[in-house]
Amino acid sequence: MGHVDGNAIAGSLAEIFPFDVTAAVGRCAHCGSTGMIGDAMVYFAATGTIVRCANCDEVLAVLVETPSRIWLSLSGVRGLTLPT
Ligand SMILES: [Zn+2]
Repeated sequence: MGHVDGNAIAGSLAEIFPFDVTAAVGRCAHCGSTGMIGDAMVYFAATGTIVRCANCDEVLAVLVETPSRIWLSLSGVRGLTLPT
């Protein structure tokens, strides 16, 4: 399954966060590496969108959108640093 970069989910995340999350720097909870969310690897699947670490390939985030809800898990992100 091919992937695109994290900028592909900018629109979906803009419905949740009032800032550009793709410009945020996140720390992977698995390998500890840091990188911009926009540089992560995004895989679109029928069940949802999976965001994987560009360094270790572990799952950073899962996004599921239905007609009435957006469900977001950031369980693989230890923290985010945002520009002010
Ligand atoms: Zn990682």
